[in-house]
Amino acid sequence: MNLPSTETLRQRARAALATVGATVPEGTGLTARTPITGESLFELGTGDAEATIAAAEGAFRTWRSTPAPARGELVRRLGDLLREHKSQLAELITIEAGKIESEALGEVQEMIDICDFAVGLSRQLYGRTIASERPGHRLAETWHPLGVVGVISAFNFPAAVWSWNTAVALVCGDTVVWKPSEATPLISIAAAHLLDRAARETGAPREVHRLLLGDRAIGEQLVDDPRVALVSATGSTRMGREVGPRVAARFGRSLLELGGNNASIVAPSADLDLALQGIVFAAAGTAGQRCTTLRRLIVHRDIAEELTERLVAAYRKLPIGDPFAEGTLVGPLISATAAETMRDALRQAEAEGGEILAGGGSRLTEQTPDAAYVEPAVVRMPAQTQVVREETFAPILYVLTYDSFDEAIALHNAVPQGLSSSVFTRDQGEAERFLAAEGSDCGIANVNIGTSGAEIGGAFGGEKETGGGRESGSDAWRAYMRRATNTVNYSTQLTLAQNVSFL
Ligand code: NAD
Repeated sequence: MNLPSTETLRQRARAALATVGATVPEGTGLTARTPITGESLFELGTGDAEATIAAAEGAFRTWRSTPAPARGELVRRLGDLLREHKSQLAELITIEAGKIESEALGEVQEMIDICDFAVGLSRQLYGRTIASERPGHRLAETWHPLGVVGVISAFNFPAAVWSWNTAVALVCGDTVVWKPSEATPLISIAAAHLLDRAARETGAPREVHRLLLGDRAIGEQLVDDPRVALVSATGSTRMGREVGPRVAARFGRSLLELGGNNASIVAPSADLDLALQGIVFAAAGTAGQRCTTLRRLIVHRDIAEELTERLVAAYRKLPIGDPFAEGTLVGPLISATAAETMRDALRQAEAEGGEILAGGGSRLTEQTPDAAYVEPAVVRMPAQTQVVREETFAPILYVLTYDSFDEAIALHNAVPQGLSSSVFTRDQGEAERFLAAEGSDCGIANVNIGTSGAEIGGAFGGEKETGGGRESGSDAWRAYMRRATNTVNYSTQLTLAQNVSFL
């Protein structure tokens, strides 16, 4: 496998940062790595949670009273800067997360899109006016900023998840402290630098956003700090299981976006050409490292053989390798440990009666023993066993068969996670049943597309062990604000609700 040298990648990262206007904050405590070679790029310093939270809390006092459309100006400028530096940001995403160029550019586009959305939102933070039961009274709801929002993000969408939270939180009048994944500090430095610049250019307080580099222990400081009004944490269910109760114990708010175990049902009437494209992108794209990655395929018995054969043929042709190389569709896993986890899951699947039909091997080379290039796997399973019910953050697609649509939906919902789902069918009745209350139990339910690749306009998130949070579009902004119910008496009488008499 032909890979660029670590030194080349180091120079490219430094150049991309320099073009954005940022430098590498060298120090100790955090290692910036690249999964392309598995080697280390820079040694970085870590942040001071106490001072960072204090700065964001100070800025909140002015930011909360800045008119929302003026707050939108900051986000508008950020969107402009993201457009201007799209290619450098995408390059850093490829270097640190291993995404192929098209997907890295797509991630930056998502950041731009959410900025556009949030600018419009800055003039649409509506409250309701409600009919009062009392004469001469007005009853209304107003929405106010919460305070400091702590954003904890995962490695696999190292910048987009930050932007979903940050663009919306900023127009809502909150200030933000961002603790990015320890695996992706460089893209965070670049994005935070652009936001600093946007703040300078629009006259917003610099401290409306602070970057807090560090590991899980630094994240825990954010989680436990009562000055952090909302902790928006994106990552594994293991992480959410720790974060949720800790934030609740201090009566803080949390917004959890956790693991998925997403499935597609393929019905006998499905357009198999279309289904195949959707399945391969959702299952093998991003090397299986999306929270919405397709992990379970539930296929009607009559078409299972044909679809599986076509899938195996498509998998055998997937170009795996350097994510910068033209034509590559599957880049590296984030670490050698991730590849080991994939191997363990495949061994377990075989022990539980599974048959590996394609992939599963690894393409580690002697020059790069710490890089993890794996072959996406298709595994036929006799039933939805233990390993199928878990999220393995790697490209493994388990294939299960069904006879009746009821059975397909039951299999679909019989996992602990509830993020994304889809059905491929031309039968409108089946499609509607999948979307109805007795259908998919996920936060995202699609028809005739795969499970991954959501647009920012919709609210994003899932149920059950996925955490229940919603980020990004629609009315997800409400999670970043507090609601006040106001009753105004403009009459000269004091009338009590529910006709109560007193005095
Ligand atoms: P991870 O849980 O290992 O880490 C995520 C972040 O949480 C990191 O910044 C980490 O430092 C921090 N963290 C971990 N433990 C913590 C603790 N106890 N207190 C405070 N912070 C803590 O996840 P990862 O490996 O970076 O990402 C992959 C996982 O994220 C997958 O499970 C994937 O499904 C999930 N994910 C979910 C979504 C979603 O929107 N639902 C989006 C992206 C990724």
